[in-house]
Amino acid sequence: MNEPDAALKTLGVSLGDRSYPIHIGPGLLGDPQWLTPHLAGRQVMVVTNDSVAPLYLETLKQGLPDDLDVREVILPDGEATKNLANVERIWDALLAAGFNRRCTLIALGGGVIGDMAGYAAASYQRGVAFIQVPTTLLAQVDSSVGGKTGVNHPRGKNMIGAFWQPRAVLVDTHTLATLPPRELSAGLAEVIKYGLIRDVDFLAWLEASMAMLRDLDAAALTTAIERSCSIKAEIVAEDETEQGVRALLNLGHTFGHAIETHQGYGHWLHGEAVGAGMQMAAELSHRLGWLEASDVARVRNLLAAAALPLAAPGDMRAEDFLSLMRLDKKNLDGRLRLILLGCLGDACVHDATPPEMLVSLLEEFPR
Ligand code: NAD
Ligand code: MG
Repeated sequence: MNEPDAALKTLGVSLGDRSYPIHIGPGLLGDPQWLTPHLAGRQVMVVTNDSVAPLYLETLKQGLPDDLDVREVILPDGEATKNLANVERIWDALLAAGFNRRCTLIALGGGVIGDMAGYAAASYQRGVAFIQVPTTLLAQVDSSVGGKTGVNHPRGKNMIGAFWQPRAVLVDTHTLATLPPRELSAGLAEVIKYGLIRDVDFLAWLEASMAMLRDLDAAALTTAIERSCSIKAEIVAEDETEQGVRALLNLGHTFGHAIETHQGYGHWLHGEAVGAGMQMAAELSHRLGWLEASDVARVRNLLAAAALPLAAPGDMRAEDFLSLMRLDKKNLDGRLRLILLGCLGDACVHDATPPEMLVSLLEEFPR
């Protein structure tokens, strides 16, 4: 498990002429062989933030050939940065540098930077090349795959955006060494999600490997990221613009969004809220007669091993959940649609949960 080969993998995302590779491994950042083949021309704009730049910007630049015109935009850290004003700063930097349609944007950072740089790339001169270098686990397994880019609007999260695929994704697992432990756990929630919705063998592997993942074992991280990306890529290839099966990626998210909104964004990390939400979805699936009590216990134990919260916020009542869940984008014709588990490793969209069953789950769930 620990030979160098086991820690280096390349995965292809199949989207016809927009297909691209995801390279995963320790120490990829400073090595020119990974970025160079995907550059559109000599002009390169690196977009990052003021927390990530001091850690990884120089290493990334060392991984670019010497004869390029490399510029950078360093934005303030935080979700509050993910707005059109900061995309405009990226456009301004591109225009000030005189960059043309053959330039390449490189996003170096978490999902906030990836979403913003991707949207800037989708819109600059009607679309330019874009490479993702995700540095949070969440970005490595989720936001950098699938082509959704965009920014928040004062009236709603991710309300402005475009589908725009990167030319390549470069995941250097060494970058996780500096990630705060809560952010690592939040990323692990999305990793567990892939096992729950699609792959019970992966779920069993995660149960056996969670301690190694939290210790940042290189081969274990590569396996977990590769499996997660390939499940997401498979689902995205089936449903690029979210008409059907892509909804399954929202397991735990309807409950989770209610928690995030109720607590105010930033108090619970997205992955933490999704972790509690997946526990709720598993418990509801049990009450519907689909999961065994022992399956629910497996989900709970795995979330606990990932250091994720197992209880809902103490000040959230069942009515708070219900009123926020009714706003979910998945709902159709006033019916609440939830992603639930038919069994471990197989999710479905369900819109016929008896209301009294949902209310009693929400009332009885631990606080
Ligand atoms: P983030 O980008 O805010 O990163 C979390 C924190 O970690 C930030 O403070 C960041 O500066 C810091 N950081 C990043 N890499 C680091 C490193 N290696 N070492 C130390 N600190 C580091 O948050 P995130 O969880 O990566 O992404 C969340 C965003 O992604 C949200 O805006 C969400 O809407 C978006 N998202 C998009 C998609 C999609 O499909 N496009 C999917 C999921 C989430
Ligand atoms: Mg998510």
